[in-house]
Amino acid sequence: MSNLEKTLSIIKPDAVERNLENEIKGMFTNNGFNIVKNKKIQISKSEAEQFYKVHETKPFYNDLCNYLSSGPIVVMILEKENAIQENRDLMGSTKPEDAAEGTIRKKYGISIDKNSVHGSDSLENAKIEINFFFKD
Ligand code: UDP
Ligand code: MG
Repeated sequence: MSNLEKTLSIIKPDAVERNLENEIKGMFTNNGFNIVKNKKIQISKSEAEQFYKVHETKPFYNDLCNYLSSGPIVVMILEKENAIQENRDLMGSTKPEDAAEGTIRKKYGISIDKNSVHGSDSLENAKIEINFFFKD
């Protein structure tokens, strides 16, 4: 049965800063994702706090929000069959050193905090995150 999904992906500041936008977009398209919408923006600290609200009790929350708002990011809506899980698989483990060969984080991630990409982790969060960046 067909299960075409949309998910939200972010190319984080560490990757945009290293000019990896096109290489990372190429990894998505080469793996069958359609980039439905995308834009390069910089968000404020308070927008980052809203976006990462699920992590507000975590010890890394403040650093994470400072980081996501520290420079330009590229936000994208990706579409594919089972896009949410497929994107998580292509991203690889949160910690780049634990990520599998061929994943984005293995290839480009620097550290657990500078891990190059974000991806929605559930259908519900994909909807919330897509709406957060692409309201219209
Ligand atoms: N993060 C961090 N330190 C940690 C755990 C997570 O800096 O100990 C950051 C990391 O950038 C990660 C983000 O917080 O991508 C969100 O964490 P989550 O557990 O949701 O990982 P993800 O879904 O991004 O793999
Ligand atoms: Mg997450």
